[in-house]
Amino acid sequence: MAFVPRTDAALHYACAVLQDCRISRLPVDPLEVAVSSGISVYPLSQVTQNPAWQPWNLPAALGMTDAITIAYPAFCIIYRDEARDPGRLRWAVAHELGHLFLNHFRDFPDQMNPGLSADSTLEEEADVFARNLLAPVPLVDVIRFNRPRQAKAPLFGLSRTAWMKRLDTLGEDRSLISEEMADAVLYPFRSFLLNRRCPKCGRLFEDRRDTGRCPQCGCEELEWVLE
Ligand SMILES: [Zn+2]
Ligand SMILES: [Zn+2]
Repeated sequence: MAFVPRTDAALHYACAVLQDCRISRLPVDPLEVAVSSGISVYPLSQVTQNPAWQPWNLPAALGMTDAITIAYPAFCIIYRDEARDPGRLRWAVAHELGHLFLNHFRDFPDQMNPGLSADSTLEEEADVFARNLLAPVPLVDVIRFNRPRQAKAPLFGLSRTAWMKRLDTLGEDRSLISEEMADAVLYPFRSFLLNRRCPKCGRLFEDRRDTGRCPQCGCEELEWVLE
């Protein structure tokens, strides 16, 4: 298609969805985001047993991916529920949510036709959405700054490849986020980010006033607990 990917719109939608769904901890679960946004999601095992879905050869339509969006008999996301890499599934569902939130099915029905090969511009937009939903820049920045060793793929529930792409695009995405947007994304995560463990007495607490010391024994070598 002849237009450039709308990176800013895709990124802003992801930030807005995080806030609307009150996502407050990692890893972000795109299935939960779908449900709280009123988008139906069905595991493949459930639909293959339902005669209403027979016209669709869903396993073939899924092909190499772990999730697809279909419009009939209901607009919904179908995902593979057999045991596979949860990071890949998380990414695939977040990518499909990107297509939906960016209205690709409504605005570009021809390009989104399942019979055609994917349109690279629309795919890129869905990927921008996915990476900013699962690993929002402000959160990646805060954790990388304070806990570089914990800022890795598993914390965000991403595959290593997706995490590498996230790091490659960090600067580009950061330039599109205002300070207000960054604060709004971070605010619901404040409890998650303030969890501390005292290595001396084992106490777990939220260091809300950022005192840096254990309320029980006064120890000042607190550990960040991102869980
Ligand atoms: Zn796609
Ligand atoms: Zn203590």
